[in-house]
Amino acid sequence: MKKIILLMLLLGVMMGTYGQKKPNIVIIISDDHAYQAIGAYQPALKNTPNLDKLAAEGAIFSKAYVSNSICGPSRAVLLTGKYSHKNGFKDNETSTFDFSQDSFIKQLTNSGYKTSWIGKIHLGYKLEGFTDYDILVGQGHYFNPDFISPDGRHRQQGYVSDIVTDKAIDWMKEHRDQPFCVVIGHKATHRTWMPDPQDFGVNDEEEFELPETFYDDYRTREAAKLQEMSIDKDMQMGYDLKMYPTVADMRKDGNFARMDDEQFQKYIEYYRPIYDDLQKRKLKGKELAEWKYRRYMIDYQNTARSMDRNIGRVTDYLRDSGLEDNTLVIYLSDQGFYMGEHGWFDKRWMYEESFRTPMIAKMPTLIKAHSRIDQQVMNVDIAPTLLQIAQVDVPQDMQGKSFLPLLRGDKKKIRDVLYYHYYEKGEHAVSPHFGISDGRYKLIRLYHKVEGWEFYDLKADPQEMINRYEDPKFKKQIEKMKAKLVLEIKKVDDKEALELLDK
Ligand code: CA
Repeated sequence: MKKIILLMLLLGVMMGTYGQKKPNIVIIISDDHAYQAIGAYQPALKNTPNLDKLAAEGAIFSKAYVSNSICGPSRAVLLTGKYSHKNGFKDNETSTFDFSQDSFIKQLTNSGYKTSWIGKIHLGYKLEGFTDYDILVGQGHYFNPDFISPDGRHRQQGYVSDIVTDKAIDWMKEHRDQPFCVVIGHKATHRTWMPDPQDFGVNDEEEFELPETFYDDYRTREAAKLQEMSIDKDMQMGYDLKMYPTVADMRKDGNFARMDDEQFQKYIEYYRPIYDDLQKRKLKGKELAEWKYRRYMIDYQNTARSMDRNIGRVTDYLRDSGLEDNTLVIYLSDQGFYMGEHGWFDKRWMYEESFRTPMIAKMPTLIKAHSRIDQQVMNVDIAPTLLQIAQVDVPQDMQGKSFLPLLRGDKKKIRDVLYYHYYEKGEHAVSPHFGISDGRYKLIRLYHKVEGWEFYDLKADPQEMINRYEDPKFKKQIEKMKAKLVLEIKKVDDKEALELLDK
């Protein structure tokens, strides 16, 4: 008996001194959630109280960027700590993610962590390296979504942000006694912006000021002229804005066909009066474009509210369970998004609104409350940072740089330049491009659809309205940036980009 008590005491001491040291990691990754839509970035907005609180209790990043602004590729970069050309997942259209490659999750699992991805991953279904997973099928659906776990495929009744959060909290409860890492992948706020019905009306009286660049004529920017992501021209009245001529037409849309009668009824009750009112008003031209913009903003922000409530449920759980002090919470989106700037919705561009992403981190024992991190970081830097925090060696072939010093309050910058490469050739007609930004100047090389260069002075022209590539005033600066671009391409070993430069 004495021996058993002694053993238990010893085990307790080990858990207390050793087990406690490995921090838990909770990554909340939303989809297409723009920093322009978050109160912590835009104090006039009051729609994201839980995210704003997370930022106040931790650190907000003002210059977090992604290396390829689109869903699957961004998650692949997060997982691997490698750029798209190295992890192999370049685009959503043709790439297959190779789960046999290394990832920070695999490293954590191998060092004794319990690990799971719950919700949207968008990288296929045969996950490797996780102790558990329960992921949305494909893009996922807002209502009654289908999931795939090691037990197979199942459909779950309810609203996606609630279900993903329920699953994540249940999983954390089950694994709270060991170090754990969970990625909570939200469907929100991806197209087609469908709120939980309890959030209908929440933002409907808000004044959404039309962005200055809403009527951009894309002069000097050929690729921007050719895109198909205009709110006016490309946003669909039915699919996107739920304005169907009849209730039967609405029910036929896949997003509504899967709803039960009660869910559908709530959507009819909210959207039919809006449709009837629109019919009476017979809007055209600019009036109709601005009506679309306003409806887009309302749907988007109501959907964000449904997600924010669930982010609050996760942080409440961590506080109430006593896990808060030893848990790093990181919130980010898979990229930025256009909220009407340049007349657009969607992402993909190396222009700031889609290149930059919101990012917030909280861990009371590591990060001072009310911290603001103004140094440039990228999503490729997250994997090595997390491994350092978990005291796991960072594999040499990970390309990102740990920003742990910045979390501790160090002000020294960790990277001089940001490298970007977008590959997709299909939806929304954005020309593939790669480029470099040093925070002041940005140089972009377009190829495949539009061949050419763009150069921006971000200080004089933060909205990137004037391509200065042909401006003799910037000749020297452009040469300097070209040299930096070549250097960075060689450093990250992007052979395809290097070949394109030689053409
Ligand atoms: Ca996305």
